[in-house]
Amino acid sequence: MRYSQMLIPTLREAPSDAEVVSHKLMIRAGLIRQLARGIYDYLPLGLKVLRKIEQITREELNRAGCQEVLLPVIIPAELWQETGRWGFYGKELLRLKDRNERDFCFGPTQEEIITDLVRREIRSYKELPKNFYQIHTKFRDEIRPRFGLMRAREFIMKDGYSFHATEKSLNEHYELMRKTYVRIFERCGLRTKVVEADTGAIGGSSSHEVVVLAETGESEVAFCDACDYSANLEMASSKTAKGEKKRSGSSKCREIKTPGLKTVEEVAAFLKVKRAQMIKTLVYLRDGGIVVGLIAGEHEINEVKLKNACNARFLTMADAATVKELTGAEVGFAGPVGLKKKTSLGPVQVFADFSIQSIDDGVTGANKTDYHLTGVVPDVDFTPDQYLDLRLVKEGDSCGRCEKGRLQIKRGIEVGHIFKLGTKYSKSMNAMFLDESGTKQPFIMGTYGIGIGRTAAAAIEQNNDDKGIIWPLPIAPFQVEIISLNQDDEVIKTAEKIYDELLAQGIEVLYDDRDERAGVKLTDAELIGIPHFVMVGSRGVKDKVVELKARKNGDIKKLAFKDVSNVVKKLCQI
Ligand code: ATP
Ligand code: MG
Repeated sequence: MRYSQMLIPTLREAPSDAEVVSHKLMIRAGLIRQLARGIYDYLPLGLKVLRKIEQITREELNRAGCQEVLLPVIIPAELWQETGRWGFYGKELLRLKDRNERDFCFGPTQEEIITDLVRREIRSYKELPKNFYQIHTKFRDEIRPRFGLMRAREFIMKDGYSFHATEKSLNEHYELMRKTYVRIFERCGLRTKVVEADTGAIGGSSSHEVVVLAETGESEVAFCDACDYSANLEMASSKTAKGEKKRSGSSKCREIKTPGLKTVEEVAAFLKVKRAQMIKTLVYLRDGGIVVGLIAGEHEINEVKLKNACNARFLTMADAATVKELTGAEVGFAGPVGLKKKTSLGPVQVFADFSIQSIDDGVTGANKTDYHLTGVVPDVDFTPDQYLDLRLVKEGDSCGRCEKGRLQIKRGIEVGHIFKLGTKYSKSMNAMFLDESGTKQPFIMGTYGIGIGRTAAAAIEQNNDDKGIIWPLPIAPFQVEIISLNQDDEVIKTAEKIYDELLAQGIEVLYDDRDERAGVKLTDAELIGIPHFVMVGSRGVKDKVVELKARKNGDIKKLAFKDVSNVVKKLCQI
């Protein structure tokens, strides 16, 4: 392509609302433009990158036996009502009405439609397993769209769904998908980690995320420095999470005045006790009731673990009025001793982290404003419904798997997600096949997603410098850029000739033929980040040489005209 024919509106400055480097560079390099919050135009260069990521994804999925389909983005509400998601998906779901006032939504994910298609078209175990995927537009009315394509509202996702007759088949296919995902991101030139992820309240399933480690990532990943354990922080567990009972039983529970002292730190300092002795009591609201989480004062509660433990649809910190109704006290003085079993909002469940089990002289709120209790003994003064791991792991905790290594915590960008769904959707939508004995069974399902735009953004997060983007070759919008350093006749003639030669070799070339100063062209070239530049200037033309520059390390070498196409061809082999 000739630069002069393309729309590449580069900018020297990034817009003020762009916080992360990929967002800034995507705007500055003229890849995208914002139309509304979280909704973008993909410009020619940006679209080329997305198409390359899509193509690699397609090739690898097809190789793994998946089939491409294209499903509607506008979905009748009835399908979402069948699974109940119409009710509880919340505001992220964009709902619309047609001219007859019939309800529809714009698909944020397509489990319902694909399950509907499969229940109508697949009858027998003989037709299984199957994996259908599409690469298509999604809409999620994200509460905080930000970081450009990283968290958009309208975005392109590869979403895939597999259908199986047996758990064994799902497990095998899941493993194949895990490997396929690793290959896809490797081929895109990204360094990724596969981490265990939260499966929500769907019991027995497993889920993994593919994460690109980057400071600007919105997820946190814990991984062991000794074994290969790695997990999203939402579900990571450390060795110390497994508690043991060791109780002297000698301490006696008594009330003590702690005026205005509400936090663990304040109370521990005032009573001169260790934070490990404090029984931190957190009150949450859930669908249909109240959940109380208990954890030793030195730790933090992992709310995802607590939400899963109680199988809640949602879980949020309780407001002051609810705390008052439950405890009879202001916020800051809640404790598990003598807690109500029921409130006007529903029953009260109490879950305790393992760290509570080993406390034998605990301090906790007295459920009375300005008072705490000391000498509290679990299972004597109060009995939680269950002890379990509720702890948010910290950097340096011992690994829960090998028990030798230490956990490190890093930020990352989730680019892909694979999930064993089981029969959640097939059961609620009555999607059945006939098994070998002729009995109706619900399909066993898996779901697999990749954010195409987010992958492009993550690639920039990993590959950039102060001058601009440094595209990995496999997803670069062009493989090589020819730059004529001035508009002398001989220079133009040579650049045109090289351009034709490279095109004839099947190389993807951008030819900067603009009537601009060399400095402007070079600055733009560094910004848009094509991996190799061929620079044609007056002096070189006399000696029949051009300069070949690598965007990544800035290395420049001289090349004779006759060698250009062979050398560049080799460089562009992936
Ligand atoms: P997140 O936790 O980041 O919101 P998610 O769990 O909602 O992600 P999935 O439903 O698993 O994401 O979607 C599959 C993939 O789609 C994700 O791995 C991610 O790459 C991409 N994705 C999800 N939400 C967005 C978004 N708002 N903008 C761009 N890509 C997205
Ligand atoms: Mg999300």
